[in-house]
Amino acid sequence: MAFRRTVEDFACGHCGAPNHGDGYTNHCAQCLWSRHVDVDPGDRADTCGGLMAPVDAQLERGRWLVVHCCTVCGVQRRCRTSGADDVDVLAEVARRRATGF
Ligand SMILES: [Zn+2]
Ligand SMILES: [Zn+2]
Repeated sequence: MAFRRTVEDFACGHCGAPNHGDGYTNHCAQCLWSRHVDVDPGDRADTCGGLMAPVDAQLERGRWLVVHCCTVCGVQRRCRTSGADDVDVLAEVARRRATGF
């Protein structure tokens, strides 16, 4: 399925922060929580709708990847971060992962 760009603003389902969607990310820039709405990135075709917790963060070639785990169905997704995301929160997620919480 082709990537479809969906630009939308949304309020974070976890912390309530208003987010300005850029069409590529649908996670919160403040707490990194996401929502399980895509089958392929951007298609909004999944009906799960569960909140996705940031469970891991990895630095790959100078860019952070965040791993989300759906709190409803347990699916895990790796997601690219954007420049708007809070690097301190990414580092905290990575540290928690490394120390086993
Ligand atoms: Zn949030
Ligand atoms: Zn789910």
